[in-house]
Amino acid sequence: LDTDVLIVGGGLIGLSIAWELRRKGWRTAVLDRSTPGREASWAGAGMLSPYAESFPSPFWRSEAERALALYPDWVEALARESGVAIDFERSGTLEIRPGRPPELIPQEARVNPRTLLQALLKIQPVEHGVSVDSLRMIPGGVEAAGRSGRRIVIGAGAWSGSIAGLPPSEPVRGHLIGYSMPPASLGPTRRDGHTYILQRANGWTIVGSTEERVGFERSLDRDALRDLAARGGQLWPQLRGKEIEEAWCGFRPATPSGLPADGWHADGRVWLAYGHFRNGILLAPAVAQRAADAISSSLEKD
Ligand SMILES: Cc1cc2nc3c(=O)[nH]c(=O)nc-3n(C[C@H](O)[C@H](O)[C@H](O)COP(=O)(O)OP(=O)(O)OC[C@H]3O[C@@H](n4cnc5c(N)ncnc54)[C@H](O)[C@@H]3O)c2cc1C
Repeated sequence: LDTDVLIVGGGLIGLSIAWELRRKGWRTAVLDRSTPGREASWAGAGMLSPYAESFPSPFWRSEAERALALYPDWVEALARESGVAIDFERSGTLEIRPGRPPELIPQEARVNPRTLLQALLKIQPVEHGVSVDSLRMIPGGVEAAGRSGRRIVIGAGAWSGSIAGLPPSEPVRGHLIGYSMPPASLGPTRRDGHTYILQRANGWTIVGSTEERVGFERSLDRDALRDLAARGGQLWPQLRGKEIEEAWCGFRPATPSGLPADGWHADGRVWLAYGHFRNGILLAPAVAQRAADAISSSLEKD
């Protein structure tokens, strides 16, 4: 077999699991059908918000809290190993609701997911241009797109369910817009329900977001952008009347049940890691640790 663990998908989830497995001494190979790290994980805002967000079950809420607790050490280890500076800040979240006093959630944080991807891609080679459409069980492992591994991880985001025989996944599109603002001008992340504003260390300020079930449609919706700009201006008056400098969208990986497909599939050689929906950036360190622990102990039993 070519490797211990094949990983399908070079987004934040696949790359985080690959890194965790490598730290435990296993050989890994990551396959991506296009340019790795350019889908949902690249588009995402990077709020680390286990308290202001809602979760599909008590287990996933506690995983989100655990992930936030793991974040500082995880970021530090990743920055040390890669030499890439990661833009992470315990910024807190200010919940602003009409008719109520604003409430600060001081433990919440934010990260620029593109700096995480840059760091992970520096230490983890990815074979790109390799699309996995089906899996084949072979003696001692699994084969996919002509490569073989003792185990395989599916971290292909919103596209995972199109791999033959796997539980379904679906995209939920989200638009974001960005503005240049002075560094440290915003303070804590601001949010009112699904409208939020957060700021990178360099002042780049992001307003989100929308939830649209429109399939994998990549063209930007001008009405959605105008609406976002108006909601952003209400939440932070400094943005009122400012030109949108950049707009983009991405596909959150969802599942029909709302629960992530996360754990062993079928005969215990295929580990599913998709469907983390609005919180995949937050959940990455916890998802990766749990996957690497389970896969590691299964490999040791071979
Ligand atoms: C607008 C928006 C805002 C968001 N904000 C936040 C936030 O503030 N906080 C937070 O925690 N989360 C946020 N998210 C969610 C988060 O971005 C996702 O949950 C997370 O990035 C999913 O990572 P992933 O690795 O599963 O998927 P992706 O990053 O989409 O990566 C999947 C990879 O798999 C590859 N692939 C697909 N199909 C195949 C195939 N058949 N074979 C090989 N490779 C394949 C793709 O090319 C891609 O590189 C947001 C998402 C969006 C869209």
